Amino acid sequence: MERYQVTDGKGFRLADHDPGATSGIDGKVEGRAELAQLTARLSELHELLYADGRHGLLVVLQGMDTSGKGGAIRKAFEGLDPTGVHVATFKAPTEVELAHDFLWRVHSHAPAKGHIGLFDRSHYEDVLIVRVHGLVPKAQWRARYEHIRNFESLLTDEGTVVRKFFLNISKDEQKERLQARVDNPTKHWKFRLADLDERKLWDDYQDAYEEAIRRTATPEAPWTVVPADHKWHRDLVICRTIVDTLEGLDLRYPDTGEDLSGVVVE
Ligand code: AMP
Ligand code: MG
Repeated sequence: MERYQVTDGKGFRLADHDPGATSGIDGKVEGRAELAQLTARLSELHELLYADGRHGLLVVLQGMDTSGKGGAIRKAFEGLDPTGVHVATFKAPTEVELAHDFLWRVHSHAPAKGHIGLFDRSHYEDVLIVRVHGLVPKAQWRARYEHIRNFESLLTDEGTVVRKFFLNISKDEQKERLQARVDNPTKHWKFRLADLDERKLWDDYQDAYEEAIRRTATPEAPWTVVPADHKWHRDLVICRTIVDTLEGLDLRYPDTGEDLSGVVVE
């Protein structure tokens, strides 16, 4: 799974990443079986994260429309205890949000120690859609890469582990998924005609993602470029990356300071 990690953005090229990759796993059945094991492991690690109490974990999910951000939250994280998870969804900013700096609405959703925060879109929209549509002057969005790096370093220094995922789907796969929404009346609520206008800007978005990853991938807050054309593979890569991250933290059950030897409950 390491091949999908970007810990140093220098020279990063999206073209080097195949959205259809499957990591040599035979297919959906094998992939889902592996995911079930990882989900069970994640569940244990989540409890340990809570018991340990020294770290929070922030998971940022970004990707084009239909790339599966919601699906990944449901599937890759299904083993989590809901009391220790906070999901934040970032839509177009409200008037009040727009009257503040771009990080203002984001920071308060960062997870507490012991918790996992899942961001469905994030502060990265402020260098993605904002750049593609020129919603603020270029000098302003350009300065944001550094603000984002500093924000993420602040979180890291204060005990929050940051992991960012780009759900990389191909343009053809998006076409299939958007068409499926159009063809199914129970999916119309997920579809807006404006989604087709965004699709026309596909190349601009790819450029914006590439630069965002180049400028913000660091060893402390790496990006994972997730091959996402196959949903089972997308979930597997995300779950595996999170399990590896938590296993790397040296989490332990705290010493309560109470001697329980010989204690018998009557
Ligand atoms: P969806 O995820 O399909 O519900 O759509 C949410 C929409 O909100 C997407 O088109 C995002 O690009 C947009 N959005 C999210 N954050 C921002 C932002 N900071 N500025 C402008 N648009 C945003
Ligand atoms: Mg949408």
